[in-house]
Amino acid sequence: MENGEGMLLSGNINPLDLIEKYGAPLYVYDAEVIESQYKRLLAAFDVPRLRIHYACKALTTLSILKFMKGLGAGLDTVSIQEVRLGLAAGFPPREITYTPNCVGMEEIDEAVVLGVRINIDNLSILEQFGQAHPTVPVSIRINPHIMAGGNLKTSVGHVDSKFGISIHQMLHVHRIVEATGLQVEGIHMHTGSDILDPGVFLAGAEILLNHAKDFPNLQFVDFGSGFKVPYKEGDIETDIEELGQLISARFREFCQAYGKDLVLMFEPGKFLVSQAGYFFVRVNVVKHTTSTVFAGVDSGLNHLIRPMFYNSYHHITNISHPQGRRRFYTVVGYICETDTFGANRKIPEIREGDILCMRNAGAYCFSMASNYNSRLRPAEVMVYKGQDYLIRHRETMEDLFRNQTGVDVWG
Ligand SMILES: *Cc1c(COP(=O)(O)O)cnc(C)c1O
Repeated sequence: MENGEGMLLSGNINPLDLIEKYGAPLYVYDAEVIESQYKRLLAAFDVPRLRIHYACKALTTLSILKFMKGLGAGLDTVSIQEVRLGLAAGFPPREITYTPNCVGMEEIDEAVVLGVRINIDNLSILEQFGQAHPTVPVSIRINPHIMAGGNLKTSVGHVDSKFGISIHQMLHVHRIVEATGLQVEGIHMHTGSDILDPGVFLAGAEILLNHAKDFPNLQFVDFGSGFKVPYKEGDIETDIEELGQLISARFREFCQAYGKDLVLMFEPGKFLVSQAGYFFVRVNVVKHTTSTVFAGVDSGLNHLIRPMFYNSYHHITNISHPQGRRRFYTVVGYICETDTFGANRKIPEIREGDILCMRNAGAYCFSMASNYNSRLRPAEVMVYKGQDYLIRHRETMEDLFRNQTGVDVWG
């Protein structure tokens, strides 16, 4: 919420009070936004059995996982470490889907022992899995070969993608299933982030359903994610309500033909947490060059890499001086290479010491943070119903020394 008088989070929490309490830079997550996004999804799909598994790579902090569990969500994981975090957060193993890519058989064996649902995305592992664990049900990730999503780094369902088993290899899949006696309980696709058009999503879904009918023992069909969220005013977002109606109608029709009410599953990451996150940074230096005014802040691509990595847009406001005259600034970090959060943004006059807020900082921000330049990672705070909770301590120098042996070859 912004009204020219400063910014308030839900429960009328003033982020400047949080900065005073916890310091800057600071990640803050508004759990009421997560809750309303989750409820929006539940309301959008009208099918007898719907499951939402939170794709936790977007933000794996334990308290966030526990919050998702409290909402009733399951979990979607891509590594055995995420599986273990999910179990630690209290998710029952069968509420966790594990969708790895290019991991070895040992890691998959570990997932079998942990009892989570396993989603397999290549023929080699499918065959090995079928031989090693013929009684453990699996789901299969197919690649529908559609071009969807924001850019080549986030679009994962096209013809050259490394993800999924090609729809042109389904005969091979069936041969492996027959030879090993494997139980296929689910069929899955995830074609990438930032799908703008429900029509594209539906085209992928149609391809998936077309292959789903050839597996007689399915429990669920998982359409993945890719819902786009808005990054700036007037930005397009996936029309989740329209998508919900189209998919639900098609899915009910499919289930009728299939002869059983299957679970319709989605695994959103960004949709649930992106807009719930705010990243607050303090301005260290305002620097005028011949053509640009830079605002240099106490953070960098080590804390939020998306602008440099994907060209992502994060809306930036000055919450210390909201009524200031709006001027053009290029907001940069302190990392010793090009490190731009936003170029030529119109922002209320920035003074040294002001606190800037970056929006959409819930997904793929803290979870991609690093210690590059030997900087410490920020603290994380969650707010819910007027209360604030520290959910991760700010790192200290000790964290940088951890695991280093410090061996000195000169003796
Ligand atoms: C990353 C990922 C998601 C979530 O994608 P979003 O764009 O964040 O919603 C879902 N499923 C799988 C398998 C993923 O790898």
